[in-house]
Amino acid sequence: MIIHVRKVSPEGSHFSGDEPSEVMGLEHDRFVRAAGELHYTLFAVVVSGRLLVSGTAEIRIRARCSRCGESFSTIVREPSFLRMYSLAGGVQEVDVTPALREALVLRIPIYLLCREDCRGLCSRCGANLNRERCTCAPEEVGNRWDVLDKLRL
Ligand SMILES: [Zn+2]
Ligand SMILES: [Zn+2]
Repeated sequence: MIIHVRKVSPEGSHFSGDEPSEVMGLEHDRFVRAAGELHYTLFAVVVSGRLLVSGTAEIRIRARCSRCGESFSTIVREPSFLRMYSLAGGVQEVDVTPALREALVLRIPIYLLCREDCRGLCSRCGANLNRERCTCAPEEVGNRWDVLDKLRL
């Protein structure tokens, strides 16, 4: 998304549109893929030799749940995008795409969950506990201490 400085009106100008999903550069990411276009709604204004760009951006991603391993889709949103670009030396064009990408990548949670209450997989049989109830007994904490006691002897 390139802003042509001359086209920005003195009161500031609004820009909105889409960038293709490839600008996110997530094609080789193991856990996250861009699954739609990057939408942006920006306001740009020139203030004392600088271009100030603010607004919002969002993109749909497909990700793998950190707890159950299932693939799911969600929207990543940057609600308060803000960047300042120096126009020193007569800069005429400012490419905002790298900053939009960076802002959105930082908004992708490190620990991605398909839903907040994802129950994950059974640690014994591997059943997806969101979909089925396995018959494994809940792990008994007591047993672990028994083992430790035996080791001490
Ligand atoms: Zn999950
Ligand atoms: Zn189980």
